[in-house]
Amino acid sequence: MKITIDRTKCEGYAKCIQASPKVFKLDAKMIAEVIDAKADIDEKILLAAKICPTKAIILEEEGTGKKIFPVE
Ligand code: SF4
Repeated sequence: MKITIDRTKCEGYAKCIQASPKVFKLDAKMIAEVIDAKADIDEKILLAAKICPTKAIILEEEGTGKKIFPVE
């Protein structure tokens, strides 16, 4: 799963880090970044994206680029 964080949307709530601390962390500017996209199961990463209050986490299928979250 390809994880992209829209840094213009992230407001540092750290919900994603609570959901999946091995994948997400806050950088020095208190904006989320991906440490290791493969460090957790897809369900946890999807949960992190879903609970992000600003919908800053974009998930796509590796290879196909198919959007997993958010879906319009
Ligand atoms: S939950 Fe969303 S807003 Fe909060 S730190 Fe993670 S990406 Fe940023």
